Amino acid sequence: MAAPGSQSDGTTKVRTVCSYCGVGCGLVLDVGTGPDGRRTVVKASGDKEHPANFGRLCTKGATTADMLAAPGRLTTALVRPDRGEEPQPAPLAAAVTETARRLRTIIDEHGPDAVALYVSGQLSLEAQYLANKLAKGFIRTNQIESNSRLCMAGAGTGYKLSLGADGPPGSYQDLDKADVFFVIGSNMADCHPILFLRMMERVKSAGAKLIVVDPRRTATAAKADLFLQIKPGTDLSSPSPASGPAPRSGPTCWVACNPVCTPYAPAP
Ligand code: SF4
Repeated sequence: MAAPGSQSDGTTKVRTVCSYCGVGCGLVLDVGTGPDGRRTVVKASGDKEHPANFGRLCTKGATTADMLAAPGRLTTALVRPDRGEEPQPAPLAAAVTETARRLRTIIDEHGPDAVALYVSGQLSLEAQYLANKLAKGFIRTNQIESNSRLCMAGAGTGYKLSLGADGPPGSYQDLDKADVFFVIGSNMADCHPILFLRMMERVKSAGAKLIVVDPRRTATAAKADLFLQIKPGTDLSSPSPASGPAPRSGPTCWVACNPVCTPYAPAP
């Protein structure tokens, strides 16, 4: 896609990232003027040059413009004159000034760490950057947290224990070369559809095997070569299928898993 810029129809194309899920699909937003005269996103399409999705979007990403224009959103800032009072509409600049004044008072009296920000993992990258800049650069506290960390705490601990570092070790390109996929506790067909499509392309084109471990027969499980339907609450005891002891609660699963995984044993 060409660099962002004005189009002949008066809209501006802006490249960004879908904020719905962690697949991180590239989006191109057409930003123009809405019926109310305000600057608004009038169309969202997949970024064909983005390495995560190459132009594809699932329903969630494809309806980004509708979501951004949906009614029921705040159209003005609201300021609560005092604790317990009803929020009152206020001009944005005045609300920002008032927020800064109140923050200044708290910081002067109690120090920067008296302020903590709890933000959302669904913020856009740009909004997330600004929130961190506000916390660390201006308020000068490191007390900023989001649901992303809570969400990833278990995975991070697992990565550290098994691989020694808490960053996911693979890349999306690995999916295009894999021979077997082991999906545990994830219904990526519904939750991360674009990555699921990429995985299924490899399954279909190269005959890669898909093993799904889940208590529920999900849309992902429906595509599996081997579906291990474990009892609820027992998924954490399933080990890596190619090595290690049989799971405490799933010997039947282990027996089923072995023939599929034998060709993919870890290198000595
Ligand atoms: S898979 Fe769907 S929701 Fe997730 S980032 Fe891509 S378009 Fe957005």
